Amino acid sequence: MPLRQSRCFVLRTHRVAEADLVAVLFSADLGKVRGWVRGARRPRSRFGNSLGVGNEVEAGWFERETRELVRVDRCEVVVSALPLLRHPVRGAALRYLSQLMETFALEREPQPGLFRLLVACRDALLAERPPALVTAYAEAWVLRFAGLYPRPGRCACGARFDQGGARYFAAGPVFACPGCARGRAEPDASLSGATLAALADFWRMGPGQVAAPSDAEAELFEFHGRLAFAAAERPLRARSVLEAMLRPAASPSA
Ligand SMILES: [Zn+2]
Repeated sequence: MPLRQSRCFVLRTHRVAEADLVAVLFSADLGKVRGWVRGARRPRSRFGNSLGVGNEVEAGWFERETRELVRVDRCEVVVSALPLLRHPVRGAALRYLSQLMETFALEREPQPGLFRLLVACRDALLAERPPALVTAYAEAWVLRFAGLYPRPGRCACGARFDQGGARYFAAGPVFACPGCARGRAEPDASLSGATLAALADFWRMGPGQVAAPSDAEAELFEFHGRLAFAAAERPLRARSVLEAMLRPAASPSA
């Protein structure tokens, strides 16, 4: 079997056997790949600390015809996650972005847009952009790639959302202005005009450039939580950890 080489993010690892790891990698040109890394936990392993979660690495592996796992042969760090992990909130944000990608990236299917998103959001965290904002940005795009976000823009009637806000209907999915939403079934969520304005910026700018008022950020966090939970059909643990750090004083009714 030929050696395959690719730029990857390390999304997660877990221990197997005596000294090995299974690593979930997100490859720029192959999507999500799971690999067995022999001897990765030995003291003087040639893999060193390269398999830390959130690291961007150059990895090489051998495909194995009959097995689901590839055999990782080499892994070298290109951009280390360590500077982010030393900071509690930025570290929690990066861990959550890794879990988000693991949940939504497809196995063995190239998703270059998703890979670029992860690079851009990691870089924005390194540039000390606010973790809550970077997270809201990443979630918006991941959910949009997953087809869960309505088409941005205006209501079917032509009304602008950044003025009156919008109601979200999961069946569709579609946004409708308050006028058009009247008479329909109960909406699954309501978003304010400020939130819709922030979203419009998300769709045309990078995570290093966007800004959002804190109300909009909080509304998006709540909205995305519901969408992600419904799609993943399980709670995303790293999200709860991040949420506890971002909103330590938030009351259940807030
Ligand atoms: Zn309308």
